[in-house]
Order: sequence, then C-alpha cells, then structure tokens
Amino acid sequence: MSPSPKKRQIAAIKGTHDILPRQARKWQRVEEIANSLFELYGYREIRTPIFEATELFQKGTGETSDIVMKEMYTFVDKGGRSLTLRPEYTPSIARAIIEHQLHLQPDPLRFYFIGPMFRYDKPQKGRYRQFHQMDVEVFNEKDPAVDAEIVEMAARLLERVKVKGAEVLVNSVGCRACRPDYHLALRQNAEKHRKEFCADCQRKIDTNPLRIFDCKVAACREIALGLPKIIDYLCEECQVHFDQFRSYLDLYELSYKVEPFLVRGLDYYTKTTFEFVSTELGAQDAILGGGRYDDMMKDFGGPDICGIGFALGMERLLQLVPDEDSPEKFVYIAWMGDAAKKEAVLIARFLRLQGVECFIEYKSRGLGNQMGRANKFGAPWGVIIGEDEVKKQSYQLKNMVTGEQKEVTREKLLTAVRND
Ligand SMILES: [Zn+2]
Ligand SMILES: [Zn+2]
Repeated sequence: MSPSPKKRQIAAIKGTHDILPRQARKWQRVEEIANSLFELYGYREIRTPIFEATELFQKGTGETSDIVMKEMYTFVDKGGRSLTLRPEYTPSIARAIIEHQLHLQPDPLRFYFIGPMFRYDKPQKGRYRQFHQMDVEVFNEKDPAVDAEIVEMAARLLERVKVKGAEVLVNSVGCRACRPDYHLALRQNAEKHRKEFCADCQRKIDTNPLRIFDCKVAACREIALGLPKIIDYLCEECQVHFDQFRSYLDLYELSYKVEPFLVRGLDYYTKTTFEFVSTELGAQDAILGGGRYDDMMKDFGGPDICGIGFALGMERLLQLVPDEDSPEKFVYIAWMGDAAKKEAVLIARFLRLQGVECFIEYKSRGLGNQMGRANKFGAPWGVIIGEDEVKKQSYQLKNMVTGEQKEVTREKLLTAVRND
C-alpha cells in the first residue's frame, strides 16, 4: 500500500487507551491505597522490564496455555532476538529471583507490582491490548496461613477502595501427587459426554480437561456440573492444607464459598486457588484471581521454592471504584506588569517551598481575564500582584469561592491558604 497523500491524524493504537489527568487522579488514588496496604503486609515493590525473551513466557505459561501463547505481542528486534511484551507478570518475577538469587538474600520474598501488560486479544469494551495489572507474590512460604493472609489482604484492598459486594471463592487444585488420578477420572467422565460438548471443549478433553470448566457455553457448563470434582481427589497433604487454609479464613472472620470448579489450567498451580467476583461486572465477573504455584520455580530451572499470589486487572477494578470529588487546591497567582511578574515568580517559589500548590500563567493578560481563568480552573484562592503590591510588599488575596478579598503580607498569605 502506498502512503495516502492526505494528511492523516495519528490516533491511539486499537486496544490501547489514554488515561487523561482527571482519570489519572483516580488511578493514583487506587495505586496509593494499594501500595501502602501491601507495604503493611511486608511486601516490597519490584519493577521488571516490559519486554523479555519470548522463551520466558513460552516456558512460564505452560505449553497447554494456548490462550496466552496465541495472544502474545512477539517481535524480532534489530539484533534478531525474539522478544515479547509481557502478557503476565509471574514469569518476570521468577526470572528476577533466579537471576539475582533473591532467595539467598536476607529480605523477605514478598513482592508487589503495578504496571502494563500486553495481549493481542480481540478488543472489546473493557478489554484492552495494553491493560494494567496489580500483582502480588510471596515465595518460600508453605504454610496455609499465608494463603489466608493473602486472601484477607485482597479483601482489605477492595474494602479500602470502596468496592462493594465482592464474593470470595476458594478451591484446591491438588498437587502433582493427586492430580493424575483426578485427571484420569475427569477425562474418562468427560469422554462419555464428548458429543454434547462444544468443539473447543472436545479438544480440551484430549489436551487439558481442566479447561472445560472455563467454557462459557451454557450446554458445556451444564455437563461440567456433573463432572468429578478435584476436592474429592485430594491427597492427605493437600486435604490438610485446604482444611487449615479454611480454618485461617474463619479466624479472619472472612466469609467465602468453596467453588469446586474454580480451577486454573496452568500446570504449575497447586493446592489453593481463589477468586473475588462481583455481580456488578456482568459476564466478566472476576475482579481478581490467584493461587499457589509450588512447582513453578523448579519448572523454571530455579530453586525449589513454593509461591502464591494474585493478579488484579486495574481497568476492571476502576469500573467498580466509586468516583470521588477531588477539588483543586492550588493558588492562582495573577500579575500585572513586568515587576509584578517577577514578584509573582518569587511568591510562587516561596509558597511551593512551604508545600502549597501554585499556578502562574506567563502570558500577559488583564486582571479580569486572569481571575476568570482562576475560576474556570477551580482554584480556591487567587493572589493579585500589581505595581503597588510590589512596592508595599503586600498582596491582594482573593477567596475565589466567596469573592472576599483582603490585603496580606507574605506570611499572612501563607497562613491563610494553608488553613483552608
Ligand atoms: Zn495433593
Ligand atoms: Zn465448551
């Protein structure tokens, strides 16, 4: 195709979105709440690169997880390397732990992270190709008490950002000792219904029967209800773990539901899985999901340490977080004439050093015009500086809400805008 001779406006790429300043305030609010909450539980932030070797995600997401594989943003760089924009976070953290031998350091292996992920998914409402996730991971803690602590932390998070009506679902997916028996029973049972399943599920019977439970087709869901449940096949160790996990949830007085079909198709998931769902999101009802992956590190060629964590989609979460008014609190400094302009600069510096937000516009405008703009921006205070004010070293302070105006010194000005 030859380039169009007409000048075309460049738009954001399909499946991406801008977070404009007004929305960004809400993002910041949620991120700040999350960061400080995670820190309360001993988590520390980790930041890894946005792209990694493609191999990392091929290995990390499991061969049967074709969903992630098919949706990866993979490209060859100028050096001929195959790189992929991260589709999920856990493989990057695992890589970082192994690469820096973090498990040998004296720091706790508790990490949190908030940032963009990339999947070449079909764009639809509420689904993006560049989306954002919050991610929390703990390594080297076998005890079911940590499973319950993570679920409790997730519940506190939703409470703090004022998401209402979330329900907690929990399950166990067993381990490599007990899952083969279950897989066999599941496959044999599903085989009996082969013809009743959708084409996709028929394939899953052969590749990964656990994924049948993810199918949204009504007929498949109906049959799935009658299929064997993993919790009836747990080995002693997994059973004890699940019972203890639940007893800690009771200790936290958290209400939850055991959902026997809450399974994660990835090979490395073991024991505990959980999900928070909301009826307000309609069909895509999961707000966050997580689980234990005791075999993942080993599978990555790393140390044999267990792990557990959860991921949460920011875009979905923000739909559920109520909007809050965040009124502006800056002082608009209006000036008339060159001497006053310099004085305005100095006053702004003074106020900013004291932690007061200030705003000056440098284009020469009339006083009425400047006050009008201060109003439009929603500034609660205006300061007026003219030649007289420069000479007297005192300024006109205007309360933009009441319209009241008085002459103040620099110090009085500071006290007035601070007390508001
Ligand atoms: Zn087991
Ligand atoms: Zn199906």
